[in-house]
Amino acid sequence: MDQKALIGIGSNLGSPVENCRKAVASLCESEEINVIKQSSLYESEPIGKKNQPWFVNAVIEIQTSLSPERLLKKLLNIEQQFGRTRNEKWGPRIIDLDILDYDGRIINSESLTLPHPEMLNRRFVLEPLSEISGSTIHPVQNKSIQSLLNELPKNPVVKKISIS
Ligand code: AMP
Repeated sequence: MDQKALIGIGSNLGSPVENCRKAVASLCESEEINVIKQSSLYESEPIGKKNQPWFVNAVIEIQTSLSPERLLKKLLNIEQQFGRTRNEKWGPRIIDLDILDYDGRIINSESLTLPHPEMLNRRFVLEPLSEISGSTIHPVQNKSIQSLLNELPKNPVVKKISIS
């Protein structure tokens, strides 16, 4: 279990808070994964396609014995268990699980890009990530998560949800 990875979680269909919690519970059930840190839940204004419900987002830090590819398979399996169907790129989704970082590795394969290429532009990722891992250095940008967050505009809006 000596590899460390950061996972992004998002949902805006059904009961998004419940979906995010269940996704973390599913990851905890895996013998190859230990969840070691969990951010608060955040609500975020949709980007791209505006006429859809706000999202609930969180990030977690895990320790895992799975390779990056096997971890991705695990995440895709969990998405399928939630009944996720893949359709439009920016559309609503019952659950979305992304590998944001895997031990600082840089990977550009057909199925996997690490670090996750969109995380730099997404306040709904960097805001919860800065809560649990603000001093982590982005392996391509060579800047901390906190300083990358400071460079982002305040919109679209991301707000911490006060329930825990
Ligand atoms: P989406 O669910 O829209 O985020 O897209 C998921 C697809 O993106 C997967 O089938 C992966 O093959 C691909 N992908 C590439 N890099 C990543 C990553 N770092 N984390 C999750 N999915 C990724």
